[in-house]
Amino acid sequence: MKKLVVGNWKMHGSRASNAELIQGLLAADLSTTAPRADVAVCPPAVFLADVAAALQGSAIAVGVQDVSVQAQGAFTGEVAGPMVREFGATYAIVGHSERRSYHAESDQLVADKAKAALAHGLVPIVCVGETLAERESGQTEVVVGRQLDAVIATLGADVAKAVVAYEPVWAIGTGKTASPEQAQAVHAFLRARLTSAQPDAAKVPLLYGGSVKPDNAQVLFAQPDIDGGLIGGAALKAADFAAIARAA
Ligand code: PEP
Repeated sequence: MKKLVVGNWKMHGSRASNAELIQGLLAADLSTTAPRADVAVCPPAVFLADVAAALQGSAIAVGVQDVSVQAQGAFTGEVAGPMVREFGATYAIVGHSERRSYHAESDQLVADKAKAALAHGLVPIVCVGETLAERESGQTEVVVGRQLDAVIATLGADVAKAVVAYEPVWAIGTGKTASPEQAQAVHAFLRARLTSAQPDAAKVPLLYGGSVKPDNAQVLFAQPDIDGGLIGGAALKAADFAAIARAA
């Protein structure tokens, strides 16, 4: 399966620093990764138009970090799928653990956001993952299974059009990476769950996220059920992100 490497810029950047980062990414010429990996970056929504314009014609796609379940209307502060499509987004991250924990997003809301993304022509990148306490109490499969089941139930056969990112909460921004074996085990579980629900979902790209860096990307991406990565901190450095994309 072709790999997918996505950068999540989170709430970082300015017009000036984004321009510098993009210049670095363009100079790294990620078109050479194209036969093996698709590459995308997800800036804060306010920068989407700038970033999409700067990357137009390059091998790098753009996405957003969240999307509304609504298409239009009196929903103050929300940004809708058709709006971000108009500015060139093709991916929407949904259910990132920072949104689940800081904004109390439920499994059902995340699934509804994935459905809205698809309805508006965006590929949802649905994040699932357990906390350290959940892992230590042996609940990893229960938690990620529950998070995934909401998406399977809500999307039905369309789950085959989604991307799923396994992001153990304890590995995000902490410098602690799941070992390749730990990540592979959860990815194999997610693959089996998807496939038993919808046979076409066997090919859903499963990304790993959580302190992926140039020096651990290759071994993670070599695991049979790891189809790429969702990259946070290292996506803010052009050289690191390019090296990770090349490791795919
Ligand atoms: C993320 O937040 O999606 C992420 C994976 O962050 P980091 O790579 O910094 O751990």
